[in-house]
Amino acid sequence: MIDLRSDTVTLPTPAMREAIARAELGDDVYGEDPSVNRLEAMAASMMGKEAALLVPSGTMGNLAAMLTHCARGTKAIVGADSHTNLYEAGGASALGGIVLTAIANTDDGELDTGELARELGTPADDHFAPPSLVVIENTHNRCGGAPIKLSHMAEVSAAARRRKVPLHLDGARIFNAALALETTPKEIASHADTVSFCLSKGLGCPIGSLLCGSREFIARAHRTR
Ligand SMILES: *Cc1c(COP(=O)(O)O)cnc(C)c1O
Repeated sequence: MIDLRSDTVTLPTPAMREAIARAELGDDVYGEDPSVNRLEAMAASMMGKEAALLVPSGTMGNLAAMLTHCARGTKAIVGADSHTNLYEAGGASALGGIVLTAIANTDDGELDTGELARELGTPADDHFAPPSLVVIENTHNRCGGAPIKLSHMAEVSAAARRRKVPLHLDGARIFNAALALETTPKEIASHADTVSFCLSKGLGCPIGSLLCGSREFIARAHRTR
């Protein structure tokens, strides 16, 4: 039997268990765990970012990203069908005072660009929560695991940049997206300021996700973690 409930039910192979048992360890908060350091360097390089931070889960990767990008009382613009909106227990609001602002997803997982423009165009008026982040998901879990086209990523990225709003990519399954789009994770992530991805989805790792971004951002995310 192959268990198809979720790609998270994959288990480590014997070779992985052996590598875990033999791993060199150290204190990660002091930056002294050589295995974590190597993993973070590898992740940053694969995503084309300066630095990376290991976190226990994808939810925590997205949460650390939102808490680091967004001040309290500001808006994180997310897809209505996104993992961030539906499956992360409202953590950004509960822990960060962030206004999760859901805009429509199209059937193929893209963000509705009209609604995005409207939210990004929130007037600079003290009545309104100002937008501080856009979150895009690739592949899109709730929309059939759809890979999101690079042209759409570029369009969303340009719209956010025009408003000086950063873009976070929930790339839980970015390697699936790269295969489906016949490109590299780095190319997909190049459209976003920060990206998180899971090691626990189809890759056999029991837990673990990485948040990647600039050195300065990751230093702040380390404190958030
Ligand atoms: C699984 C998933 C996450 C969160 O990962 P966990 O490790 O389960 O917390 C985030 N985003 C998407 C799109 C996912 O599918």
